[in-house]
This record gives sequence, structure tokens and C-alpha cells, in this order.
Amino acid sequence: MAEIEREAMEYDVVIVGAGPAGLSAAIRLKQLDADINVVVLEKGSEVGAHILSGAVLDPCGLDALIPDWKEKGAPLNTPVKEDNFYMLGEAGEVRIPNFPMPPLMNNHGNYIVSMANVCRWMAEQAEELGVEIFPGMACSELVYGDNGEVKGVVAGVFGLEADGSYGPGTEPGMELHGKYVFLSEGVRGSLAKEVIAKYDLQAGKDVQKFGVGMKEIWEIDPAKHKEGTVTHTMGWPLNGNAGGGSFVYHLENNQVYVGFVVHLNYKNPHLFPYMEFQRFKHHPMIAELLEGGKRVAYGARAISEGGYQSMCKMVAPGVALLGCSVGMVNVPRIKGNHNAMLSGKAAAEAAYAAIQDGRAADELTAYEVEVRSGAIGKDLKKVRNVKPMWSKWGMLPSLALGGLDMWTNTLGFSLFGTLKHGKTDAEATEPADKHKVLDYPKPDGKLSFDRLTNVSFAMTNHEESQPCHLRLADESLPIAVNLPKYAEPAQRYCPAGVYEVLEGEDGPRFQINFQNCVHCKTCDIKDPSQNITWVTPQGGDGPNYPNM
Ligand SMILES: Cc1cc2nc3c(=O)[nH]c(=O)nc-3n(C[C@H](O)[C@H](O)[C@H](O)COP(=O)(O)OP(=O)(O)OC[C@H]3O[C@@H](n4cnc5c(N)ncnc54)[C@H](O)[C@@H]3O)c2cc1C
Repeated sequence: MAEIEREAMEYDVVIVGAGPAGLSAAIRLKQLDADINVVVLEKGSEVGAHILSGAVLDPCGLDALIPDWKEKGAPLNTPVKEDNFYMLGEAGEVRIPNFPMPPLMNNHGNYIVSMANVCRWMAEQAEELGVEIFPGMACSELVYGDNGEVKGVVAGVFGLEADGSYGPGTEPGMELHGKYVFLSEGVRGSLAKEVIAKYDLQAGKDVQKFGVGMKEIWEIDPAKHKEGTVTHTMGWPLNGNAGGGSFVYHLENNQVYVGFVVHLNYKNPHLFPYMEFQRFKHHPMIAELLEGGKRVAYGARAISEGGYQSMCKMVAPGVALLGCSVGMVNVPRIKGNHNAMLSGKAAAEAAYAAIQDGRAADELTAYEVEVRSGAIGKDLKKVRNVKPMWSKWGMLPSLALGGLDMWTNTLGFSLFGTLKHGKTDAEATEPADKHKVLDYPKPDGKLSFDRLTNVSFAMTNHEESQPCHLRLADESLPIAVNLPKYAEPAQRYCPAGVYEVLEGEDGPRFQINFQNCVHCKTCDIKDPSQNITWVTPQGGDGPNYPNM
């Protein structure tokens, strides 16, 4: 094939991903120097289209970045007024009082927000400062310089043929070069994954851990709506089969975010995270809230859970990883947006100082030092043992010991040191014949829905003629290995029904319905054979979330 010719554009800083991390970096760079050239590239059709959080936002990140965010009209309209935590059994619930919880778990002072809308507002602030933002532009490749440094990205490749080749309608995209490239792709970023492997950035750190989070927006009976109420649950229906739990947040306009997170280190490959979520809504406490209401949106996204000990090295020549591309979620608080913002700010300050000194394409060590020793490191260090305790000892002991550990860490010490996570989530999957098949009730179409119906509420769309963006290293492996050994769990762990095993005349066949993909990245994480690689499809494809 002839060499592909692309135009190149030069910037000071190229930012991949318009989430809270990337947008914060862009805003901070322009605050520091109005003349610095900054571009933000976003694969969603518009800023916010691929953003999915709970979300209860701790405003500390925004306070640091834009102290007058209130006067500037930031959409933080719903302060948390009530904070509840329940342990669920099948037929009832027990309220865990707030007083034994360490102060860091308190949600007062936080806001229930649509992070998609917060990002849209942040993009407006960035554009007012002169940042160039291009939505609908997926960054599909990294560009390396002569010395192996990251020099830029390729963005805006459209119209590839189904086999990945260039055809008459293919637009080759362009190269965007920067003195520094920021990868703020969120959890399991596809370019970040390449950089982590190329520069061995996970070396000496614990493995990264993940969960899959699924979320619906409901409009409920106004008589049952309590604006500002935050509820978290644990226990039923997961019980001992997996770690995880739910969140129910009452935002404005009689809407409620109903979400469920399943930790991806579950062993039983028969487990069906999506159906656990659907079953959860039939708990009497939740069913009573939702009955008479309607679900208006659905989405899913992986969430990073490794925390403090799993944060990879975040800088390599010419490149820095931000936010959840590193993994900065405080797991017991289920919060990462504040740290994503703080990381964007810190990366911007390091890049600005470097550029002032005439530097380019080297390692922004000052950024990493700030993340580990500053507010982000302090936030994550206090809770570092909660997740490994849960993985090792289960929910109840980890509630008690994790609570104790968070208390002692608040006072500045831990009785446990720093616990390790151990296996990756893919490695945690055990053979199917060691576990029982789990039965899930059929969705009733009122409170619970089948996957494909729900996926239509993510408004996801992929041009069918383009290549499949879920790449198998070995096409035979799903049927030859995963099916006999693990009952091919892709059929169940994918919250969008992308993967199917179909019976044909010649035996079973693995089918990938990539058009349904909601870009959650669970397959890339959980496939026990690590045979699936998620690469970005062309820009503008994927979900179109309204106010997730
Ligand atoms: C179910 C769930 C509930 C959560 N609840 C909360 C909560 O209540 N509070 C809280 O603070 N945090 C919560 N989090 C965590 C929070 O969502 C993350 O910490 C946060 O989104 C990280 O921000 P980010 O900017 O790093 O990445 P993201 O928000 O994921 O943004 C990344 C952006 O980059 C774009 N992108 C990715 N790859 C490319 C590419 N190659 N080219 C172009 N664009 C690209 C994406 O489309 C996206 O817009 C939750 C997460 C989940 C999954």
C-alpha cells in the first residue's frame, strides 16, 4: 500500500479526550498563558456524548480550577441534602447509620450533577479562553518522533473499508503534533494502553482493577422524588457472587440516576452483570421508588478501581496520562471526577513551566510528583486498602476493617500498610465448570428491560461499513478456548449485547455486533484470554448520552 500522506498541524499541547481531565488541562493552560496553542480532540459526536458518571461531584477540583464557577453558571444545581447507605437483603434492607463512617464518606457539600452537562459547560469555558475543541474526531494512532518520543496523534480518519483498507471514500485524517501530548481518554484508554505497554509504565506498580458501571435515568412520580438525596446500597442481589453495589441519586426535574457497579474480579464466568442490575431494581425499596416512572436513558462504562497502588507511571517522553487513563477513582466514595480535574490542572502547570523553559517532548516529572504527593495522592492513599480487603475477605469483613482503616488513615496511619490487589480481573475468571450457572428472571418490561431494548436508550450508532473496532488477536479463540473453558463470558459481561455465540450448521460461531458498542471497554478488560482489543471507531460514532 502506498504511504499515507497526511497534513500535520503544530500545537503546544495536544489533548485527547474532552472529559473532566482533558478539559481542565486545556482551561488551565489558557489561564496560564493566553498565547499557548491548545487543541482538544473528542471522539463523541459532541462534548458530553460519551460521558457517563453517577454523578455526585466533589467540587474541590472545580474550586481549584475555576473558583468563581457559581457566578459563571456551572450546572451544579443540586446540592446533596440527604445521604443514605443501606445493606440489602432479598426482601428488605437495613440502614447503616452515617455516624460510624469516616468523614471522607460524607456527601454534604457535594452536588448531584450531569457530568455530560458539566463537561459541556467546561468546553464553553475553554473555548472562551481560545482552546480549539474538535468533537467527532477520534484519535486512532500515536505518532512517534525519531527518538521514540510521542510527537502527536492521528485524528479524523473516516470511511475505511470494512477490512481496514483505504478505499475511494476514505479520509486519511491528519496528524496533530504537540510539544506535549496529554492522553485523557478515561478508563482503559486505547492510546494510553499502547503507551503504558510501550514504556512499561505499570512496572513496579500493582495491577489496575476495574468495575463495570451501568446506569439508567428515570423520570419518577414527583410525590416520590426527593431532590438532593443520595442513596448507596450493597448486598443483594450480588451477595457473595461479586463485589459491587448500587447508587440512586435524585437530581432535578423529578429525575433519578439509578446505577449499579459490578467489580470485574468476579470468578464465576456465568455471572451476568447487566442482569444483576436489572434484578436489583426489583428490590422492594427500589421497585417502590420506580413504579409508575419511566426509564429515559441507559449507558455503561468501566470504572477504574485499583486506586493509589495501581496508578501507573504517568509520564513518558512527550506524553502524560491524565485522570482515569491512570485510574484516579476513590473507590469507597465512587468518585473520580474531582481527581480527573485536579490531574488536568497539574499536568497543565507542569507543561506550561516546561514550555516556558524551552523544553519539549521530554517527561513532565513535576506532574507525576504533584499527583502522587498532592491532593490526589492524599485522597487515594486514605482508602487504598478498601478494595483489596473486599477482594480478599468479602463484603462484611471489608466494611468493618475498611472502615477502621479509613479512620486510622484519616489520622495518618494504617495497621495494614498497603495491601496488594493480586490478579488482574481477566486472570480472576475461573473455569465455568467450577461454578454454578446463575438463573436470572426475565425482565418485565416495566422495571427491568432486556439488553437490546435498553441499548436503544443509549442512542449508540456505528457506521456499519467500517471495520469492526473490537479486534480479536486470534479469531478462533472464543469458540476453541473461551466457550469450552469459560462458557464464553463475553456473552454476559458486555452490557450492550455486542457478543453472541450463535449455533450454525457447522457448530457454534462467535458474532460481534459492534454497532451496539457503548464504548465501556469491559471486553478489553475482562476477556479471560485477553484476546479482545478495543480500538477507537471513527469519530462521532458510539453513544449519544443526553444528560448522563
Ligand atoms: C457508573 C459510574 C459512576 C461513577 N460515579 C461517579 C460519581 O458519582 N462521582 C465521581 O466523581 N466520579 C464517578 N465516576 C468516575 C468518573 O466517571 C471518572 O473518574 C471520570 O469520568 C474520569 O474523567 P476522565 O476525564 O479521566 O475520563 P472520561 O470522563 O471518561 O472522559 C474521557 C473522554 O475522552 C474521550 N476519548 C477517549 N478516547 C478517545 C480517543 N482515542 N480519541 C478521542 N477522544 C477519546 C471519551 O469519549 C471521553 O469523552 C463514575 C464512573 C462510573 C463508570
